[in-house]
Amino acid sequence: MKVIHTVGEMRAARARVADLGLVPTMGYLHAGHLSLVKRAKAENTAVAASIFVNPTQFGANEDLSRYPRDLPRDLGLLEAAGVDFVFTPDAAEMYPPGFDTQILVGGVTDRLEGAVRPGHFAGVATVVAKLFNIVQPTRAYFGQKDAQQSVVIRKLVRDLDLPVEVVVAPTVREADGLALSSRNSYLTAEERAVAPVIFQALSAARAHFDAGERDAEGLRQAVRRMLAEQPSLTVDYVSVADPLTLRELEAVDTGALVSTAARLGATRLIDNLILGGSAPR
Ligand code: AMP
Repeated sequence: MKVIHTVGEMRAARARVADLGLVPTMGYLHAGHLSLVKRAKAENTAVAASIFVNPTQFGANEDLSRYPRDLPRDLGLLEAAGVDFVFTPDAAEMYPPGFDTQILVGGVTDRLEGAVRPGHFAGVATVVAKLFNIVQPTRAYFGQKDAQQSVVIRKLVRDLDLPVEVVVAPTVREADGLALSSRNSYLTAEERAVAPVIFQALSAARAHFDAGERDAEGLRQAVRRMLAEQPSLTVDYVSVADPLTLRELEAVDTGALVSTAARLGATRLIDNLILGGSAPR
């Protein structure tokens, strides 16, 4: 496994392989990230993972400075998973003096996470476009866990004709349903015990949907009711939206994305489920 810190070295390494899968991450890896690596290994002759805590996707009051990092451990996990290249640039390599360009994906970025985290998806779209240009992957792998991010990246690729196939893989969960996240490491034992209610609340919406409920507000209320049972949880939003446009629905006919963001102490958690329709590719 080759660990690469510069754009030039990454381009040179990429030129030596035919098809390449890319798994972009911010590190502090868990089984969710590794499921993406496994999928990429199965579908490409070579696999690159990137580890870059991208400062431009964090707001001023967010957790950039305390975001968990453990590069030696991450490299061990990626090596064991059979990754060929790890691209881990520092911030100055990605954003040298004079850097002054942003990619603004319209429409799907102004709601949900975009409404609560202004500027977040400009940071995401810009860094992902840079990673695509540097690594030039054949395929790039993202998690359904960050549902809106996947929608934004698919739109970025379509709108700018980027020559990459975007693959979105299912969310990996703990046994109690909590979606794996690097940010779970912030949770105290008490908060960790409360956190599975997020998945339980989303599952309540799924149960209502499976029982025939098609009124989107009824589904949102099922989620809110269960979240409200935990007073230590502060809910940012509960959404039942079109999975492609992310517009809130009145009625669910074919499918919907039910998603929520909630804060437990200093930790903000997001999760979602797809109702009906097809699972993510
Ligand atoms: P991050 O390091 O949090 O930026 O995540 C890197 C990639 O891993 C993103 O595409 C995430 O959607 C994906 N990911 C994060 N958590 C999970 C999970 N629990 N299951 C599947 N994919 C995940």
